[in-house]
Amino acid sequence: MAGNSTKSRALRAGGLRRWSVVASILLTASSVACVPDQGSAVGSTGPTISSFTASTGSGTSPLTTALRWEIGAGASAAGSALLCELDVDGGSDFEISVANCDSASTRPVTVSAVGATIVTLRVSDETGARSTATTVLSVEPASADSFGITVRRNGVMSAAQSDAFDAAALRWSQVIRTGLPTGSLAIVANQCGTSAPAYNADVDDLMIDATISSIDGVGGVLGRAGPCYVRAAGGLPLYGVMQFDSADVADLVATGQFEAVVMHEMGHVLGFGTVWGPLLSGAGTSDPTFLGPVSTGAWQSIGGSGAVPVENSGGGGTADAHWRESTFNAELMTGYLDAGPNPLSVVTAASFADLGYGVDLGAADSYGLATLRRGPSAPDLRFVLEPVEPIASV
Ligand SMILES: [Zn+2]
Repeated sequence: MAGNSTKSRALRAGGLRRWSVVASILLTASSVACVPDQGSAVGSTGPTISSFTASTGSGTSPLTTALRWEIGAGASAAGSALLCELDVDGGSDFEISVANCDSASTRPVTVSAVGATIVTLRVSDETGARSTATTVLSVEPASADSFGITVRRNGVMSAAQSDAFDAAALRWSQVIRTGLPTGSLAIVANQCGTSAPAYNADVDDLMIDATISSIDGVGGVLGRAGPCYVRAAGGLPLYGVMQFDSADVADLVATGQFEAVVMHEMGHVLGFGTVWGPLLSGAGTSDPTFLGPVSTGAWQSIGGSGAVPVENSGGGGTADAHWRESTFNAELMTGYLDAGPNPLSVVTAASFADLGYGVDLGAADSYGLATLRRGPSAPDLRFVLEPVEPIASV
């Protein structure tokens, strides 16, 4: 089952990649049709590339990083639209094409091939004059330790409820790929308010106590979720809790939405909106944003500009801890559950790379301009959960 879903995602990603290559060929052909091809000459004829860097230049496979570049003013033909293209595998094709690229742009990439990969940026102006720049990514073999999420069940759960936790753990471990150092955890019973039993042993890589119990009946509080202990080194969660009201869970299972809710809450336990720290800018203002470089590149790759918009309304537990609903709409990590699919976008996957996880952006769901909010939509169900904040580092 996992193999099939991974394969279908890979095929979808391949389809997108091929489409973008075709687009770049068409754009290049039309832009050079009336002038001699000036090849890949670097120098005064092409736009000036002031800088071309990767936010992270080395790491284990899959290496996810943001490629960033700046194009100097004045070197290009005045007013000409620039085409920026990236070859991210050292081959002869340019897999990523950015039409009308700004003077400063960024795109995220995941490189799995082990070794030194020369990444090339090619910038063309309307006359066909081109400049290139390169940067090198150094990718070490993948860790033998894949990322693992252990869910302890507490209280009474049906098979369907229990399966939702397994499905969510599997899905997140397709996005977050690389294992972390094994940590040790010592907690007493009910340490973080879930009635869970004591634990005193290793954790590899994240342990979650999941509880479904009666809280306040249908509506009201759906539950609470978040990391309870984070790692002293790096600050990523080691232990967290997910607690749901059994009355609400019954409704969510009946409408087929419980799995999406568990996915969303597990995202918070993994650190989304809960261990953002200085990556969150403007908290409490009308325009909070997420500053992670890989997320910023991912956001711009789906049509956004500037930094990633974070929720600015809805109060505590919703604002400053989710993507902005008015922009991201159905995306999994907004503060509101949609009736249809709630896709895990490349921006959400990227946010975990920015937190320090080893992430494969290719495992994200299809998501882009077509699914961004374009007008008013019906009110969605708000994820009304009490946030759980880390209480200690271990
Ligand atoms: Zn949430």
